[in-house]
Amino acid sequence: MDAGHPLDGRPSIVLGVAFGGRRGRLRLSSLYGSRRFDSEVEVPPDAVAELSCPHCREGLAGDWSCPDCGAPMAGVSVQGGAMGRICARRG
Ligand SMILES: [Zn+2]
Repeated sequence: MDAGHPLDGRPSIVLGVAFGGRRGRLRLSSLYGSRRFDSEVEVPPDAVAELSCPHCREGLAGDWSCPDCGAPMAGVSVQGGAMGRICARRG
């Protein structure tokens, strides 16, 4: 979580993002249902990016595929014991 870069008035979720040979940080709104984000790397609509840990750069793609589009999904642990899944396809 990144309180220094809030989105929707709340700390953002920070991931590493790679696409087209460029690498940077992707910040997602932590507000449930919000699609707001801020990315250092331009990812075209409908393209699949590589999502990774922003600290060690290890890939976050798990064994899950998005039920809507089939792209890999990144698994993230949520404080308190839940698991979140984030589709790697923009949009
Ligand atoms: Zn998807």
